[in-house]
Amino acid sequence: MSNSNNPNEIIYLDNAATTRISPAVLNAIQPYLNELYGNASSLYSLGRESAKTLEKARTDIAEAIHCEPREIFFTSGGSESNNWAIKSAAMLIAKQGKKHIITSAFEHHAVLHVLAGLEKQGFEVTALPVYKEGIVRVSDLEKALSEHPDTGLVTIMYVNNEIGTIQPISELAELCRTRGVWFHTDAVQALGNIPVNIEKLNVGFLSLSGHKVHAMKGVGLLYVNKKILLPALIEGGAQERGFRAGTENIAGIAGFAAAVKEAVINMETKNAKLLPFREKLYNSIMKLERVHLNGDYEQRTINNLNFSFEGIEGEALLLHLDLAGICCSSGSACTSGSLDPSHVLLALGLPHEIAHGSLRISMSEYTTEAEIDRFLEVLPGIVKKLRDMSPLWEIINTNLSLKAF
Ligand SMILES: *Cc1c(COP(=O)(O)O)cnc(C)c1O
Repeated sequence: MSNSNNPNEIIYLDNAATTRISPAVLNAIQPYLNELYGNASSLYSLGRESAKTLEKARTDIAEAIHCEPREIFFTSGGSESNNWAIKSAAMLIAKQGKKHIITSAFEHHAVLHVLAGLEKQGFEVTALPVYKEGIVRVSDLEKALSEHPDTGLVTIMYVNNEIGTIQPISELAELCRTRGVWFHTDAVQALGNIPVNIEKLNVGFLSLSGHKVHAMKGVGLLYVNKKILLPALIEGGAQERGFRAGTENIAGIAGFAAAVKEAVINMETKNAKLLPFREKLYNSIMKLERVHLNGDYEQRTINNLNFSFEGIEGEALLLHLDLAGICCSSGSACTSGSLDPSHVLLALGLPHEIAHGSLRISMSEYTTEAEIDRFLEVLPGIVKKLRDMSPLWEIINTNLSLKAF
């Protein structure tokens, strides 16, 4: 299994946490780390070179996601974009006397924690259920909007980062558009996996992040519909037409543009390649006893699978996989390190003890069949070993208290 791109023989199946930089991105970044270091606001030609690169990146990305260049604002990533859209939109709707916001129960923490802060400031937040499938229902949004005529903003993610399920964004957003309610979507996990076409999505705001699509960490964007004047979150200089201060990350942005173009161009070939890998993973893993797939199988991005193994701690599973050179995740990178089960899995209705034994596999276009085979060779032995040591597994097997759901 020698792979020249992979000198350490690491099998990386955690692409929802972050991705490697692609060769095209590295190429695009390089000049701005070396000789082209000018500040895009400077008037001499070294600065103008950076300004040109910045505007070219904006135009290229606008073309790839079907919006106008002036509707794209570069940020430091998905978290900042979510913070900006929600906090600033909340300020605007409050001025119209609207204090109600609707979201889903399994958003990224960069949405949920912002909303928790707004609740403390007097906003009211409704979180729509996502059911066992991990999908928001349009009828639930319709009902919540009717029950709360003072709703000013709805924020629902396009693709969930733990279970990969796809939300019906254009329908949800269209419903909001007809009622004069703003709609934001966190589309960080959608780009490169499913089409991100702003013309068809009906959204007012949309967040993207570079490092989930083979660009650098620390760069992203917020799309803001041109009809909305969104107050700045980061104040200071006049960068990004005064809407987002701070000297622009030209290297990061140049790489981001290359990554977005690649993600859009390569999407179909990548999905065609990954589909049989996912089927193979699913069929083999479901043969193990007492294992459950989390979230709908069909309505999810092709790169993602998320399982729960009864009688096992997700952390122990990850550590053993790591010893075998395999990188996976249990829940999201943000919750690892804490012992709380994932809020996403709890939102699906999983009991705590099952939510604890979860494993997320997320592939990229660099994933190979040999890697999938190796993973499937190693996993059953680890599962067996951990279950043999687990008092919980013994209880499950003797049917004393826990029931399979
Ligand atoms: C990774 C991620 C974010 C955060 O993006 P950063 O660029 O790391 O700040 C937000 N939302 C989702 C769905 C993500 O997967």
